[in-house]
Amino acid sequence: MKKFSSSLILSLILVVFIASSCNKGSDESPINLFSVDDDIAFGKSMEEEIAANPQDFPLLDASAHPEAYQHINRIRDSILNTGMLFYEDKFEWKVYIIKNDSMLNAFATPGGYMYFYTGIIKYLDNEAQFAGVMAHEMAHCDLRHSTNQITKAYGIQIMLSILLGQAPGQLTEIIASYAYGLGTLAFSRDHEYEADEYSVKFLYQTSYEARGIADFFIKMEGSPHPPEFLSTHPSPENRIEKITEVWQGLGGKEGNTYVESYNAFKASLP
Ligand SMILES: [Zn+2]
Repeated sequence: MKKFSSSLILSLILVVFIASSCNKGSDESPINLFSVDDDIAFGKSMEEEIAANPQDFPLLDASAHPEAYQHINRIRDSILNTGMLFYEDKFEWKVYIIKNDSMLNAFATPGGYMYFYTGIIKYLDNEAQFAGVMAHEMAHCDLRHSTNQITKAYGIQIMLSILLGQAPGQLTEIIASYAYGLGTLAFSRDHEYEADEYSVKFLYQTSYEARGIADFFIKMEGSPHPPEFLSTHPSPENRIEKITEVWQGLGGKEGNTYVESYNAFKASLP
């Protein structure tokens, strides 16, 4: 596990002190205790942990499947090139494909590391739907929802132990929460609405249909095995409504869904 900055540990100690000396009952913590560099270090640790566990995370080898990665990186770049992300240059924005056709899921860790299961890629119909999901995940990273959520879910004391290396196994648990949508790290409704909003805003600056994420929800509702995260997220109906509002507010421009290039992407998967 990568070393975390001493400033983070210091600030955690400080906050533990402040928190214990004040008796505010709210569980909302608007303060993100992590620095941007800590987000990156945390994400990097998770990346290493995932790479070291091919049994649970059979990553598709980029050198053996260059075409699949060209497609997924091309979609990522079209979102990055909008110039709308705060950490466009700071984060690595690394994308991995996990070979598991039965998992309809995707997740992103702090610092811009994204994981997409072959199951979800194959299930979707067009590139705008997929780009909508990717833009949503990128928004979670860019708005730094994850570290905010980790701190809230695990508490400052436990986070401090993890960072000091006194809680081995905790990182694995956090990764499992992300990957299997176990709920521990479910984002708040506000974070979800915000990631949806930014997904529309990002895609609006591309030639993709900006409501791709809404189309994704419609598609997933028809799935025989909707992913766990849909049940913990706000209801798809409410989200579609808000997505439409954001899109109309931007001017209601219709974009392309790109079925052909998406089929080529799917065909490049094993
Ligand atoms: Zn989300």
